[in-house]
Amino acid sequence: SNNLLEIKDLEVVYTSGKSTVQAVNGISLSLGRKETLGLVGETGAGKTTIALSILRLLPERTGRILNGSVTFDGVPVLELGEAEMQAIRGGRVSMIFQDPMTALNPVIPIGQQIEEALFLHNVDKLDSKALGERINEILGLVGIPPERKKEYPHQFSGGMKQRVVIAMALACSPELLIADEPTTALDVTIQAQVLAMMEELKHRLDMSMLMITHDLGIVAKTCDKVAVIYSGEIVEYGTFEDFFVGERHHPYTDGLFGSIPDIYGNVRRLRPIEGMLPDPTDLPAGCKFHPRCPHCMDICKTVLPVAYINGTHAVKCHIFASEEGYHGEY
Ligand code: SF4
Repeated sequence: SNNLLEIKDLEVVYTSGKSTVQAVNGISLSLGRKETLGLVGETGAGKTTIALSILRLLPERTGRILNGSVTFDGVPVLELGEAEMQAIRGGRVSMIFQDPMTALNPVIPIGQQIEEALFLHNVDKLDSKALGERINEILGLVGIPPERKKEYPHQFSGGMKQRVVIAMALACSPELLIADEPTTALDVTIQAQVLAMMEELKHRLDMSMLMITHDLGIVAKTCDKVAVIYSGEIVEYGTFEDFFVGERHHPYTDGLFGSIPDIYGNVRRLRPIEGMLPDPTDLPAGCKFHPRCPHCMDICKTVLPVAYINGTHAVKCHIFASEEGYHGEY
């Protein structure tokens, strides 16, 4: 296959004491080279768990992959030994998190942190002059003047800190960048600048990107494909056009659309989604969204909908059983 990343039937559980919760329940996704795939949903829906599974970074004692496969560039990631895994992690696949301070060491100058990121992945073949040049080049990519490399993280603003984190993630020229809510901690103007920069870098460096966000506005700006995740399942999957040109959506996605910020950055809450994600230890029967769904029918309370597919667009909702062009996939 031509895909850089393929996830099939992924199931992940977290156990604590006697209770087990299903965090990811049979998710399949694919990401082509140079593509950006958006994983959208509320906090707790399972998005980060999917990302951590790709890198095999689930919390060791509590998280467990029960089933499924992850294939990166033809390599079965879940079957690799730890040494092979380390070569992929941070080398061919990099991840950036919401809070830049989790990735930065407060007591080390940022240039030295980038140098360490390079060393970790065998770029230590460079002599010191070449190394210095490489660090300057990486800082240049994210718009940080090289003379600031001797400064410490606290000397940078939030947006600049996130740029440093992105620089570290790019140090080894990854083929896939996983960005987990990379701009959520930033204010709206800075958020737009950082996103624009990531977009530009993605094209310049020929990377693929997995963009994890709760914000469909960010998806609209960056993604080629979109998966909406609810309670550990994909409820809607499609291309940019399916989401932003096509008008038929899962009721949950419709709710998310109600909170897209307008061009002034104001959040319009025309159709807020009432309620919360279901308790993962006590999931509702039938469609898991039914307690919150404004279109809930009797069948929704007992029967889990299949995915209804029309071309590239897939929606897991009973309404689509009667939509023209959609056919059920079991
Ligand atoms: Fe709403 Fe029913 Fe569709 Fe679930 S299956 S999203 S409850 S209409």
